[in-house]
Amino acid sequence: MTIPFDKLTPTPITYDKEMKLKTGSWRTFKPVIDNEKCIKCFICWKFCPDVSVIVEDEDSFPEINYEYCKGCGICAHECPKDAIDMEKEV
Ligand code: SF4
Ligand code: SF4
Repeated sequence: MTIPFDKLTPTPITYDKEMKLKTGSWRTFKPVIDNEKCIKCFICWKFCPDVSVIVEDEDSFPEINYEYCKGCGICAHECPKDAIDMEKEV
């Protein structure tokens, strides 16, 4: 069965490109990586739901893209070395 478009429940969607939505402005806490503790396992990169952990190559430390990071804290929770602190935004 196909539901006619005008019968669908209204849903909030974007008509614009996702990259234009700078979701970093939603953040209350921001992840800060301590490179002294980081072992470059890149689990943070794998778990970030916003693709906001940037890995240039396997020799580089991961970096956070603060334009899009929403501050959910998943990367900090999953880091096996406790190398990511969630710091309050000022
Ligand atoms: S999960 Fe932690 S140890 Fe692994 S790359 Fe990310 S910050 Fe470094
Ligand atoms: S706090 Fe959330 S959105 Fe930001 S880098 Fe970590 S996992 Fe990604």
